[in-house]
Amino acid sequence: SGADSGAPTIFDKIISKEIPAQVIYEDDQALAFRDISPQGPVHFLVIPKVRNGLTGLSKATEEHKPLLGHLLYVAAQVAKQEGLAKGYRVTINDGPDGSQSVYHLHLHIIGGRQMTWPPG
Ligand code: 5GP
Repeated sequence: SGADSGAPTIFDKIISKEIPAQVIYEDDQALAFRDISPQGPVHFLVIPKVRNGLTGLSKATEEHKPLLGHLLYVAAQVAKQEGLAKGYRVTINDGPDGSQSVYHLHLHIIGGRQMTWPPG
């Protein structure tokens, strides 16, 4: 972690079920599972099942646009499923300054408490 080496990540093992995760949504393109270190009563991640160059949001190209839209839509649907009717935070950490630690694109969805702004 700490830099984008392009190497496989722990998320590949979650996708392939080599390591367990609490999966709360899955379709052909996306997987949502609970964060192992939750920053709120609800904290889940939405990831593409195929990384396809998307180590981070900053690597997005034109070809990724439909997938990016899908991931955002999945985030909203699963937030609803999780009962976050009062709102939630969606975050993508990118690169060293963004405190990204896993280099496989992922959306954080955090809710169930009052969020603050600005973030730290
Ligand atoms: P980042 O810092 O890259 O934005 O977020 C990576 C997230 O992945 C962190 O919130 C971290 O807790 C979570 N995470 C790291 N390893 C695992 C794991 O093995 N299982 C699950 N469920 N979450 C993980």
